[in-house]
Amino acid sequence: MKKTSVVTGAAGFLGSHLVDLLLARGHKVIGIDNFVTGSVDNIAHLGGNPDFKFIQQDVTEFIFLKEPVHYVWHFASPASPVDYLELPIQTLKVGSLGTHKALGLAKDKNARFLLASTSEIYGDPLVHPQTEEYWGNVNTIGPRGCYDEAKRFAEAVTMAYNREHHVATRIVRIFNTYGPRMRINDGRVVPSFISQALKNKPVTVFGAGTQTRSFCYVSDLIEGIHRLMMSDYELPMNIGNPAELTMLQFAAEIIRATGSKSKIVHKPLPQDDPKQRKPDITKAKKILKWSPKVRLAEGLTDTIAYFRTKVASRS
Ligand code: UDP
Repeated sequence: MKKTSVVTGAAGFLGSHLVDLLLARGHKVIGIDNFVTGSVDNIAHLGGNPDFKFIQQDVTEFIFLKEPVHYVWHFASPASPVDYLELPIQTLKVGSLGTHKALGLAKDKNARFLLASTSEIYGDPLVHPQTEEYWGNVNTIGPRGCYDEAKRFAEAVTMAYNREHHVATRIVRIFNTYGPRMRINDGRVVPSFISQALKNKPVTVFGAGTQTRSFCYVSDLIEGIHRLMMSDYELPMNIGNPAELTMLQFAAEIIRATGSKSKIVHKPLPQDDPKQRKPDITKAKKILKWSPKVRLAEGLTDTIAYFRTKVASRS
């Protein structure tokens, strides 16, 4: 008997890669998405697959499914700073009401539940690298507050369902991730720098470019998340690649990897932009026997090839 997984946000960047992995590992998958930031292109290849069913729905509405469900993976949410600035109320609603509905589904089906949380819950972190024990430094009323607080609420309601209703829950704190199927215009640094470089346009570094991020390739991330769901670990766990670099270094790497003639230009730093970010993955290494395998140069090759097709089809 195949297990059935429900993936909310199935047409998104991470959701669609997760669906592919679950199907490859013998699950039946029910994908849910309202296409606010997801794209049908990310799941078009699944058309006709008898193990995949798609429901177009906003997960803040009641989720009704007739069939048994074994796993609920809650990935629905705008996730790029540009998206959640444009959609602050939807972001708050999907993180709060949407997580509540997805937990309700897991409770009803006696299914295991995994929340896609985020390194954003650490805010502009004062502890570096970030361990799961760090409580964070978030500006509740700043422009990123809608996302950060929605995800912090999502973690709280997940733990409440765990303690009160004994739902088997998992919480993954996802750090910056990149790969094919990121939306070219989502405003995040990876699609922005790559599309600018491919067009030989100026690469826009925000602020002085001394802020750091640590980028994980999508296949590594999804493998780590799958291991977390299948483990017994119920507290939040960081999954990401600890290889940290400044945005200036990252811009130079993208220009090199694309063979671009672009020059770097500086633009204003957005409010509350975290100055540093790097996961401490001691727990994932120990408990899941997981660590990232794909080096940046390698991951960028596939990602750049993907964006080349997107840039070409747009011009
Ligand atoms: N960034 C940049 N230029 C861009 C887009 C982003 O310098 O065109 C910077 C941004 O200020 C941040 C980092 O890149 O310091 C990562 O931004 P992103 O939007 O990808 O996600 P975040 O990690 O902030 O959630």
